[in-house]
Amino acid sequence: MSHYDVAVIGAGAAGLAAGLELQKAGKSFIVLEARDRIGGRAFTDTSLGLPFDCGAHWLHAAAQNPFTKIADRLGFAYNSKISWADVIRMGNGGPLPEAVQAEAVDYIVDVLTRLSEATEDVPFSASLEPGNRWNPLMDHIIGQITSHDPQNCSTLDYARYIEDGGDFPVKDGYGALVARNAAGLPVTLSTPVTCIDWSGQHARVETERGNVTASAIILAVPVNVLIADGIRFTPALPPDLVQALHDCPMGVSEKVAILLDRPIDGFSHIYGDVIFEDPAKQPFNLHINPFGRPLLVSHMGGSYGAEVEKLSDDAIMALAMEAMVEAFGSGMKTRVVKTLRTHWASDPYSLGGYSHAKPGKAALRLKFSETIGDRIVLAGEHCSIPFYSTVHGAHLSGIAAAEKAVRLL
Ligand SMILES: Cc1cc2nc3c(=O)[nH]c(=O)nc-3n(C[C@H](O)[C@H](O)[C@H](O)COP(=O)(O)OP(=O)(O)OC[C@H]3O[C@@H](n4cnc5c(N)ncnc54)[C@H](O)[C@@H]3O)c2cc1C
Repeated sequence: MSHYDVAVIGAGAAGLAAGLELQKAGKSFIVLEARDRIGGRAFTDTSLGLPFDCGAHWLHAAAQNPFTKIADRLGFAYNSKISWADVIRMGNGGPLPEAVQAEAVDYIVDVLTRLSEATEDVPFSASLEPGNRWNPLMDHIIGQITSHDPQNCSTLDYARYIEDGGDFPVKDGYGALVARNAAGLPVTLSTPVTCIDWSGQHARVETERGNVTASAIILAVPVNVLIADGIRFTPALPPDLVQALHDCPMGVSEKVAILLDRPIDGFSHIYGDVIFEDPAKQPFNLHINPFGRPLLVSHMGGSYGAEVEKLSDDAIMALAMEAMVEAFGSGMKTRVVKTLRTHWASDPYSLGGYSHAKPGKAALRLKFSETIGDRIVLAGEHCSIPFYSTVHGAHLSGIAAAEKAVRLL
């Protein structure tokens, strides 16, 4: 059985950053990844014949995001002229009247400002005005931001999140950028870890393809994989940590990519929400012609995302087509070439979108920085307080975990 200073479990942004840091520090290490690829929830698919980010797409908090500089160094272009929040509302064959757009934007900005200034740890829903006609849109936006519904999200968790310097989409894919940054890092693919026995002097890591031992473990798998006992621990993880995982779960965040015969004509806005006349009807998000490509991408979160994830391909396309016709007219009916869906929520190696603390539980995120039994260090987006739910949060947590692991040796 091979022995390493450190075994890193998971090769998403966090595990890859940890591996790169251990490589720099000259430690012996192994990175064990369940899937047959690296990147985890940062993955650029090219099966449509163009890059499509199944998961992370935006360099969030671009001013503080290390991947902005990494993109510059590696020659990855990104669009710094638009923001995630730069969204047009559409319906009846085009953009809604300006006054209606302005009313929606004012409400959204008000709610998000209240959330970001929160000092009490209560549900997001407390910041919504009861009966406001834009609440279905707000639920939909909160679903995208948090992957949860407003009643399940802690205001204080959100208030601690740092947004700084815009949100920039990466032309050839954020997933491709994360993978390129880790080119040259040895990763053992297609090797799901099934059990970690940390009862002895060294931890024993059991996989479907043999076992290894390590002096320290960096556990860089998603929260929901741990909640679902995707890895068995001997002895079990401490109950207060397990409780914290349950209190900062991942919700659902899904995408559908729709390849068109050609880009949508005459549409300069690249990000839109389709609003229907019936105010109770779920708005439908569309990313339009990204980088001039003939593509529409819809991003859906929270319980709506969960419902959609379970729909058949035909049923989700019927929903998408209704929105496409509402926004761009009936000519859309003959324009679809191919579609692709993500299914993060049913993928056993993610089981969801991204973490958010439940109301009243924001403080529990701190638990993820504690070392377990002088042997196991956690990494992943859930470990970051200012940048949770993001690639850069995961990356920075991986670096911090590697530094901790080296100190443990
Ligand atoms: C639809 C969607 C859109 C998003 N949009 C953005 C965005 O625009 N910008 C942004 O910054 N973030 C975005 N995110 C969030 C971002 O993708 C994640 O926060 C980040 O990639 C998480 O990295 P991680 O390393 O913590 O976890 P992951 O990327 O999930 O990596 C964990 C790794 O562990 C592996 N693993 C799991 N179980 C095992 C096991 N038993 N044994 C071995 N390996 C295992 C997994 O295969 C995976 O590779 C989005 C996420 C989704 C789902």
